[in-house]
Amino acid sequence: MTDDAASSALDHVVVAVDGPSGSGKSSVSRGVAARLGLRYLDTGSMYRALTWWLLAHGVDVHDREAVTVAVERPLIVPGTDPASPTIEVDGVDVAAPIRGPDVTAAVSAVSAVPAARERLARLQRQVIGAGGIVVEGRDIGTVVVPEAPVKVFLTADPAVRARRRTAELEHTDDVHATRADLERRDALDSGRDVSPLTRAEDAVEVDATHLSLAEVVQAVVALVLDRTGCEVA
Ligand code: C5P
Repeated sequence: MTDDAASSALDHVVVAVDGPSGSGKSSVSRGVAARLGLRYLDTGSMYRALTWWLLAHGVDVHDREAVTVAVERPLIVPGTDPASPTIEVDGVDVAAPIRGPDVTAAVSAVSAVPAARERLARLQRQVIGAGGIVVEGRDIGTVVVPEAPVKVFLTADPAVRARRRTAELEHTDDVHATRADLERRDALDSGRDVSPLTRAEDAVEVDATHLSLAEVVQAVVALVLDRTGCEVA
């Protein structure tokens, strides 16, 4: 392939990275996007942003009707720069508060509501547009972009996921509590009726338990180059 054709294949590629909580999707997706000059979309931050807004407006997140009525109201704007992912709701930078325990405890209830998923999937497809992007979430390869040419399902042992996630969090160093929270969210995310967390049939499963971040990024970069027919990034 010529250099021009190669760069145009990358310009339009969609790399879907799905997997359970704490498997390293964000670090891997950002690393791959940075290496290949692609944009990056964190769809989990969009579910968190919607949840933050609902909590801030006193909406009972366990009341599906109330959530359904409210989902179109907030203006959610995710940034796509892998070097500094941003997320704003009604013009407010919520990157920090959406990582707090209140939002984390409530987000799986919100993400199980069909209207919430429909609204955010629509917004995600708008941001993805013509491609050139790495998108991470739970249902990207199965529902949001089932035609994505590159799909990765990232997993890791629960103990490793809990350890890595605890190291990222500012409000806790309790690995046991973090593990319990990850397993609770995995069960809710995998067991819900709409768009449950599941591996797309054509996704490549990468088990990151014994791999470093650099090794996983390298493996995914190699997969993207192979699928797009590009030899060099
Ligand atoms: O990836 P993160 O842990 O930030 O995602 C927060 C929550 O958002 C998940 O536990 C899940 O309930 C929801 N989510 C989802 N579908 C996605 C991304 C996230 O349901 N594509």
